[in-house]
Amino acid sequence: MMKKVGIMTWFQYHNYGTALQVTALSETVRKLGYEPLVIDYSAKNKLPATLYDENLFHKYKNKIYKRIRMRNFISEEREQKFIDFYQQHLTFTKRCSLLSELEDLNQELDAFICGSDQIWAPSCFDSHYFLDFVSDNYKKIAYAPSVGLPVIADKDIQRQIRKLTRNFGFLSTREESGSVMISKLSGRKVETVLDPTLLLNSKQWHEISGYVEIDEKVPYLLVYMLGRNEQQWKRIYQIAKQKNLQVKIIPVFLSDLKREGCLKNSIGAIEFLSYIKNADYICTDSFHGMAFSINFHKEFTVFERFKEKDKLNQNSRIYHLLKKLNLENRLFHRQEDMKMLSDKIDYIQVEKIREMLKKESLHYLKNALELATQHQTDKKKHIQSDYSLCCGCGACEVVCPCDAIQIKMNQDGFYQASIDNQVCISCGRCRKVCPYIVRNDNQDIADAKLYAFKSKSAEVLSKSSSGGAAFHIASMLSEKGYAVAGCTFDVSSQTAKHIIIAPHRTETLSKLQGSKYMQSNFSEITEQLYRSDVPIVIFGTPCQIAGMRNLLKNRENVLFVDLICHGVPSYHLYEKYQAYLKEKGFDTENLTIKFRDKQFGWRERYIYSGDLNHSQSVYQDKDMYFLAFEHGFCYSHSCYECPYRDKSCADIRLGDYWGKRFEKDKTGVSEVVIMTEKGAEIIKELQNSGVAAVSEQDILDYITVQQMQNGREPVFWHSYVANLSNPDMKLEDITQYYIMPFQRRKKFRQAILKMIRR
Ligand SMILES: Cc1cc2nc3c(=O)[nH]c(=O)nc-3n(C[C@H](O)[C@H](O)[C@H](O)COP(=O)(O)OP(=O)(O)OC[C@H]3O[C@@H](n4cnc5c(N)ncnc54)[C@H](O)[C@@H]3O)c2cc1C
Repeated sequence: MMKKVGIMTWFQYHNYGTALQVTALSETVRKLGYEPLVIDYSAKNKLPATLYDENLFHKYKNKIYKRIRMRNFISEEREQKFIDFYQQHLTFTKRCSLLSELEDLNQELDAFICGSDQIWAPSCFDSHYFLDFVSDNYKKIAYAPSVGLPVIADKDIQRQIRKLTRNFGFLSTREESGSVMISKLSGRKVETVLDPTLLLNSKQWHEISGYVEIDEKVPYLLVYMLGRNEQQWKRIYQIAKQKNLQVKIIPVFLSDLKREGCLKNSIGAIEFLSYIKNADYICTDSFHGMAFSINFHKEFTVFERFKEKDKLNQNSRIYHLLKKLNLENRLFHRQEDMKMLSDKIDYIQVEKIREMLKKESLHYLKNALELATQHQTDKKKHIQSDYSLCCGCGACEVVCPCDAIQIKMNQDGFYQASIDNQVCISCGRCRKVCPYIVRNDNQDIADAKLYAFKSKSAEVLSKSSSGGAAFHIASMLSEKGYAVAGCTFDVSSQTAKHIIIAPHRTETLSKLQGSKYMQSNFSEITEQLYRSDVPIVIFGTPCQIAGMRNLLKNRENVLFVDLICHGVPSYHLYEKYQAYLKEKGFDTENLTIKFRDKQFGWRERYIYSGDLNHSQSVYQDKDMYFLAFEHGFCYSHSCYECPYRDKSCADIRLGDYWGKRFEKDKTGVSEVVIMTEKGAEIIKELQNSGVAAVSEQDILDYITVQQMQNGREPVFWHSYVANLSNPDMKLEDITQYYIMPFQRRKKFRQAILKMIRR
């Protein structure tokens, strides 16, 4: 059977270079005797939260706004052409949005290639493009990824790239400068290989795409410019005049449509190839515009898109290729370079060099594919052998027949499964209950019914985070003979942990009230939940509930309730917070924290800390714990890859009723989302009992206000968490460095939005 090779690269941006490089690599892999599958993953749309970004943001904010105004040229017909092109030429894997979905591919594919294009550019850093989801390092092949920039300014990105590239089976980049940089970082030898579009010649491109001959009566100069340098545009019209050619422009920006000679028909990848093939001269500042000019043996001039001092200067890829092929005189710097117009390119010489480079590149790829696809790993079949995420629910610990798994607090301050490989017998049972591996038993929030829920008891409201729905569900079921499993703040250990309250003990239920914005030690009750057959209602975060749903699959007498959750921070944050409070005179061994102190209202959040002698209630924007929690930069890795943002495995989901509908409410309203029939019955019963005001609302109130997508893990996660556990660092300094730039940015963004809406 043909071995399967996954290709991890950009394809989702419908631009010509991107579409043609992925097609070229896929075709090359096919020609080498493998089945290529493009991994259907789209880079997350938000820029990674880097401090470096932050500095750039302020520096370039005017530019950013200008750029937003200068919208790119996109037409529906053009988009459709790209979609059709992909359908014709590429085969995709299943859609992978989450790390765990990417990790599933470990069992399906025999090797993985990342590249080409600028997937390793620090400005678009995404660790998945470094194949971080591939469990066998030997199966990781980098083919021509481009770093793009001359330097990696951000130290955290540098550190991550070092870690990610060190263990690659086979390393190459597209430009020499990139290879030198990656080699320095990883301490490995890094090959420099040709962009895949140059591995195919014009005949092969014709065979692949079937590009058409353009019936143009008039000779023309084709322009494909990704930059907006008006001096360069002036020069282009001069060249056309000098050569007596008509200008034809492939539009990139909306404003290009106003330029003389702009093509008005929609141009997909095939038309792009056709226009280049039939052109008499080409002016471009695009790497692929230049690569295809060379492929089709065209006379061309290439411009520099970026200024030399620009921190985001990506010109190196152009310099590199021109230098390799002895074509440096095609680069337009200044007026004197106009003499190139009379020089003819010696394509016999160019082809000689290209053939040699192509041979070397293909040799590298062929060898890498052979070794990677043959490599066999003798790995244990447990939750960590192909997968990396864990929420510490403990379902795996309970089903393990040989006690190889234990939930412990790890060095980053999260409860997580720790596996003894010596003891593991590879039975795979743990994989069948893990909420990150088994993600089937869930339903879309969009299909569910939403209710607003507000307790009629002032006492219940004052202790609950929102409208007291959790308390009333627990108390009604407790009276009916259900045990209640939920999270309490344990003062003696200063941690959040799950406990089980026996049936009919309603007076104890207040222990569970209120959100604890920290990871609850859930595994302390997992064994008991598994072994007991008492009817029970279980409250927890969506991942904990998904784990329990997998574990207690066959139990009818369980009601699952999960919470809307944007993530849990590292315990190191809480330890730092304790140290800060200690300095202020608090007795941190007897500290009680209420993360949702309602004495000043519900929407304006206050955090209460108190011991026997002191207490304080601090506004959300002034409290360093809350600020860090809200910004979400030190959550567990699994929170950035949560499969349950828009789905739930529970019978009922609870949250705060944020948004406009109850914006004037002072004591709290819960969002109650009904996921199952069982859940619907409970809420109906509560509604009939009259303990709360319950009304059906539009599910859009949830969808438009709650966080339906995962936030991105910041690239400085490791240094941030390391600083949180560094005894020499103060919380004030850490907050200033890691949080405040983003807090200022948030305020700035809010101010701009206010201005726009006015
Ligand atoms: C970490 C976290 C993040 C959250 N993020 C959001 C959000 O982004 N948007 C939103 O609308 N709501 C969020 N919530 C939920 C919200 O804070 C309320 O819990 C929810 O509105 C229910 O309120 P209530 O008044 O009905 O019940 P509450 O009295 O507030 O209690 C709800 C239940 O939460 C459980 N619980 C408390 N802390 C934890 C914990 N750390 N782990 C597991 N279970 C816990 C308790 O067992 C209790 O039964 C979050 C909750 C947590 C714990």
